[in-house]
Amino acid sequence: MQITDVEALILRQPVLDASVADGSQDALIIRVHTDEGLTGVGEVDSLPSVVKAIVDAPPSHSIASGLAALLVGEDPLHVRRLWDRMFRGSLYFGRRGAAIHAISGVDIALWDLAGKALGQPVSTLLGGARRRRVRAYASTLMPERPEEVRRVVAAHCEAGFTAVKLGWGPLGRSARLDADLVAAARREAGDGVELMVDIGKGWSHAPDAVERARRMAEHRPLWIEEPFMPDQYERYAALAAAVEVPLAAGEEETTVYDFERLIDSGGVQIVQPDVTRAGGISEVMRIAALAGRRGRRLVPHAWSTGVIKAATLQVLAATEDAEWFEYCVQSTPLNERLVSERFPLRDGCVEIPDRPGIGVELDDAVLADCLVRAGS
Ligand code: MG
Repeated sequence: MQITDVEALILRQPVLDASVADGSQDALIIRVHTDEGLTGVGEVDSLPSVVKAIVDAPPSHSIASGLAALLVGEDPLHVRRLWDRMFRGSLYFGRRGAAIHAISGVDIALWDLAGKALGQPVSTLLGGARRRRVRAYASTLMPERPEEVRRVVAAHCEAGFTAVKLGWGPLGRSARLDADLVAAARREAGDGVELMVDIGKGWSHAPDAVERARRMAEHRPLWIEEPFMPDQYERYAALAAAVEVPLAAGEEETTVYDFERLIDSGGVQIVQPDVTRAGGISEVMRIAALAGRRGRRLVPHAWSTGVIKAATLQVLAATEDAEWFEYCVQSTPLNERLVSERFPLRDGCVEIPDRPGIGVELDDAVLADCLVRAGS
């Protein structure tokens, strides 16, 4: 079997609000086609037009090439070899950031293709599923006011979630508001529901953050996520040493090298690689192994369509430990309807699909509706 084409499709809902932190309003879908008619599907949660350029770019020289040109004619079952080929072939403009995002989407599509070719779920190719279901937390944006927080938490508990993460939005604006918003969430959730708080890089100095985290800790969040900008490892380390509530971070990091630094310099307890950004399924398995060696918890970041959900669930099936599945609950058409699988909740858990590949098919009608055509 040979790869004949690698497509990068930009999808976008009709009206998009670029001022909010919601990347499920658009999507970049990868399709890897073969001479045997099989197609693998992947996704990249990044800036779609940049990723498309990285896939489509014609080669300049041996370590500066678009990804599609590196893959056409290759055997798609050689997933790890092709990962290395893409990493090396994009070295001058790559190594981290958007090039690794693009490699991630192609890697997911290659795993999907391999699973379909062999008639097995990706988890089997990763060594075997260790579980059939995983507990999910509803992941959504922090509303502006405490009364809205209570309404949002109530709605997700009503929908069957036993854990809710609220993030970004007004968090970080003031110490008082941070505490009031989390207090409102806990009042509504009671003791039976777990809460997580994602600061969305809203805090700036460690001493102030220590104070804010201690006030928040009174309301028993399971973790505090991304208090600082990603490279501020010293601040992460200072905060982690000063408070008992675990810190989580990593959604902007790419490759196992970044995660090694985040763990060793930042003292972060919970690492959150995004399978569509950190280097795909291949690299997240390496990051999971690193986290295991360092005694850290792995909770992958996942915020976009059903493709990222499906790829993340295959990883969570195969890793030694899997505590949580981040379930993006945004009511955007791409999040809710791009794939036919709906990932229903049962007892607060999501069943992991065991169909071949990542186990989902794109909905052609939604794809056609949202596809951004060249020149538009
Ligand atoms: Mg986050």
